[in-house]
Amino acid sequence: MGTVVLRCYAELNDFLPRTQRNTTIAVSCAGHETVKNLVESLGVPHPEIAALLANGEPVGFGYLVRPGDRVEVYPVSTVPDTPLFPLRPPLTTFRFILDAHLGRLAAYLRMLGFDTLYRNDYDDPELARLAHDEQRILLTRDVGLLKRSLVTHGYFVRTTVPVQQIGEIVQRFNLRSLVTSFQRCIRCNGLTRPVEKAAIAHLLAAKTRQYFDRFWQCQECGQIYWRGSHYARMQQLTEQVLCQTDEISPSLPVTSDERREMCDA
Ligand SMILES: [Zn+2]
Repeated sequence: MGTVVLRCYAELNDFLPRTQRNTTIAVSCAGHETVKNLVESLGVPHPEIAALLANGEPVGFGYLVRPGDRVEVYPVSTVPDTPLFPLRPPLTTFRFILDAHLGRLAAYLRMLGFDTLYRNDYDDPELARLAHDEQRILLTRDVGLLKRSLVTHGYFVRTTVPVQQIGEIVQRFNLRSLVTSFQRCIRCNGLTRPVEKAAIAHLLAAKTRQYFDRFWQCQECGQIYWRGSHYARMQQLTEQVLCQTDEISPSLPVTSDERREMCDA
């Protein structure tokens, strides 16, 4: 059995044991394993990978690693400045599906207008199937779930505080310019639209009916929204998220020289 030399760049190191971070790793290789399986066996889930090079050449997930190969693994933030092998079909829109532990993040994404599927009773096979069938980005803190082969687009949410998580997702997927606040129902993900007060007045509490005149209603579940104190808090949060995140370019290319430097290090 021979050895493959492998290097993971930037945030992919989050998935490696401390001793293997930001350095080259020697991995045993019999010669019949795909690069996808090899990298996942080290801990890195395939949806986090944006580009793969084997001996300086772009390869796909199905590339069979051979003893003596030098493999480089790149995340979306740091890709080489060479033509790349497409690892997955490109997304045409940003739609999400979240695991059961990310309920607050789901509400925040809906608040910013993003189509977000969330239920606290989806199991892992169902989450992977829905992500695949509906071409949704799977957000989770479960690395094992991200490694499922059905999942093509996914992301491991690094932070655990919901209000920081929404900032992280907006930054990671460069969503700032796509935010359309308060057009989606936080409860069910349906779209909302303005509704005449007279049509829903009988559903309102007395004080709401007295102090507010403009209302919106979810087209799916009927939930009624108005611009009360809850709205003000959400608006403040939205502004906070948008202030804390920057418009970013989709990736920061690594030049050939920089890459060589890292490989030789
Ligand atoms: Zn609804």
